[in-house]
Amino acid sequence: KHFNKPHIFLPHFVAAMEEVEETYIMVKPDGVQRGLVGEIISRFEKKGFKLTGLKLFQCPKDLAEEHYKDLKGKSFFPKLIDYITSGPVVCMAWEGIGVVASARKVIGATNPLNAEPGTIRGDLAVQTGRNVVHGSDSPENGKREIGKISAFLFSFLFSGIGYKNFCL
Ligand code: ADP
Repeated sequence: KHFNKPHIFLPHFVAAMEEVEETYIMVKPDGVQRGLVGEIISRFEKKGFKLTGLKLFQCPKDLAEEHYKDLKGKSFFPKLIDYITSGPVVCMAWEGIGVVASARKVIGATNPLNAEPGTIRGDLAVQTGRNVVHGSDSPENGKREIGKISAFLFSFLFSGIGYKNFCL
């Protein structure tokens, strides 16, 4: 009975034509220590994205340096590596249409004092150096970051075999 109402189907059709992407989201050590993992996962779930991989993980120094290699020349780089390796992080892969840019909006600006209320950093953080969560900045980096962590876990622990190698 809906066939004579094409407008009902049009948004679904257009959405289906857009590309499904994946992004790497990481709850940083301060987010884990402050008990914000559930809150952060909940925001992406409620938005409508799909969680396809998750692992609690102590990031070794060399992998942290590889992850942030674009920032290697910055004065804060050594502090950033100390921060990321200071405790366990929660590594996640999330999937959905436009998920890379949308997740960055859900996360908010790098400096939490500039992040809009309603974003994760805007609501839950105050310092750039303790901004609770990471999200890939491009689809290419999403793939690269998920690939790196998957390969690392696969080669060292053999514990992460799943849909994305780091699924529980
Ligand atoms: P984002 O995480 O928003 O993509 P960047 O890629 O520019 O931001 O930086 C990566 C991370 O490095 C930030 O999330 C933050 O933890 C840290 N960082 C960036 N700038 C600074 C700074 N000026 N002082 C301390 N830490 C910083």
